[in-house]
Amino acid sequence: AMYRAKQEGRNSVCFFEQEMQISADRRLSIEKDLRHAIRQKEFFLVYQPMIDWEGNIIGAEVLLRWKHDKHGLIPPGDFIPIAEDTGLIFDISEWVLNTACAQLRKWMDEDDNFARQLQCISINLSPKEFNQNSFEEKVLKITERYKISPDRIEFEITERLIISNLEYTIEKMLKMKQHGFRFSVDDFGTGYSSLAYLKQLPINRLKIDRSFIRDITEDRNDATIVETIISMSHHLGLEVVAEGVETQEQHFFLSQHACDIFQGYYFSKAVNADKFFALEILRGKQAEAV
Ligand code: C2E
Ligand code: CA
Ligand code: CA
Repeated sequence: AMYRAKQEGRNSVCFFEQEMQISADRRLSIEKDLRHAIRQKEFFLVYQPMIDWEGNIIGAEVLLRWKHDKHGLIPPGDFIPIAEDTGLIFDISEWVLNTACAQLRKWMDEDDNFARQLQCISINLSPKEFNQNSFEEKVLKITERYKISPDRIEFEITERLIISNLEYTIEKMLKMKQHGFRFSVDDFGTGYSSLAYLKQLPINRLKIDRSFIRDITEDRNDATIVETIISMSHHLGLEVVAEGVETQEQHFFLSQHACDIFQGYYFSKAVNADKFFALEILRGKQAEAV
C-alpha cells in the first residue's frame, strides 16, 4: 500500500489500503472456492457464434462461466488470472476441453448437418496451459476420447503467449498443426504486435480486438488500423475475425472491407449449448438454400 501510495500521491494512502485489502480478501476467497468449483459443478460453458459474410454460423467460441453458490456469476476476468497464478488453471482447462469436446460430439451425433456447418469450436488458451509439456498429449487424448478430428478444434492464443517464448511456441504449434489443430491470434493489435512472427507461425486466423471495432465508424484511425489488418492478413493467407461487433453499421463497414468472420452482440451474446443449438435465425439461411 505504501509503495502504491507513493506512486499515487500522499492523499491516497487510506483509500488504497482499503481497496487493496478488499481485493486481497476477495482474491483469497476466490482462490479457496476455485479449488472446489469443479467438484461442486459450478462451472459451465457458453458458446458465442462466429458468423461468415453470408450470415451462417461457422464456428463457436467457447467461454467459461463460474456460478458461485454464494456470490453468483463471477466473470472469467476475475478468476482466470488467479487460476493461472495458483496452477488451478490446469484442471480447469482440462475440464473446459473435455466439456467442449463432449458437447461437439453430442451435436455431431444429434444433427450432423449442424455440426458440419459448425466447422470448428474455438477454445481460449492461457500461456501456462500451452507451455505445459504434456499439453499436446492431453488434447490428443481428449479428441480421441470423443472421436473428434483435431481440425475441429481451434485454439485462441494471445500475442503475449507467442512472444514470451517464440522458438518454443513455433515448434509446439507446428507439431500440433501436424495433427490438424488450428490456431488463431486473439485480441490482435493490443500486444506488442510484430508482423515478423506472423509469417513464421502456422496460424489460421487473426481476431481483431474489439477495442478497434468499437469506434470503427467514427474514428478514422481505428478504421485505418482495421483496414490495414484485414489487407495484411489476406496477403499472408489468413482469415480475419472481427470481435465485439455490436451494431449494423460496424457490420456493414467490416463487410465492405472484406472482413471474413464476425462475432459480437449484434448477432448473439454467448449462450448455453441448448440455446446455441436453437439459434434458428442464424441457421435459417442454410435451411432456405436447401
Ligand atoms: P476474449 O477471449 O477476448 O473473449 C471475448 C469476450 O468478449 C467475452 O467475454 C465475450 O462475452 C465478450 N464479448 C463478445 N461479444 C461482445 C460484444 O459485442 N461486445 C462486448 N462488449 N463484449 C463482447 P468473457 O466471456 O467475459 O471472457 C473474458 C475473457 O476471459 C476472454 O476474453 C478470455 O480471455 C477469458 N476466458 C474466457 N473463457 C476462457 C477459458 O475457457 N480459458 C481461458 N484460458 N480463458 C478464458
Ligand atoms: Ca478469445
Ligand atoms: Ca478476444
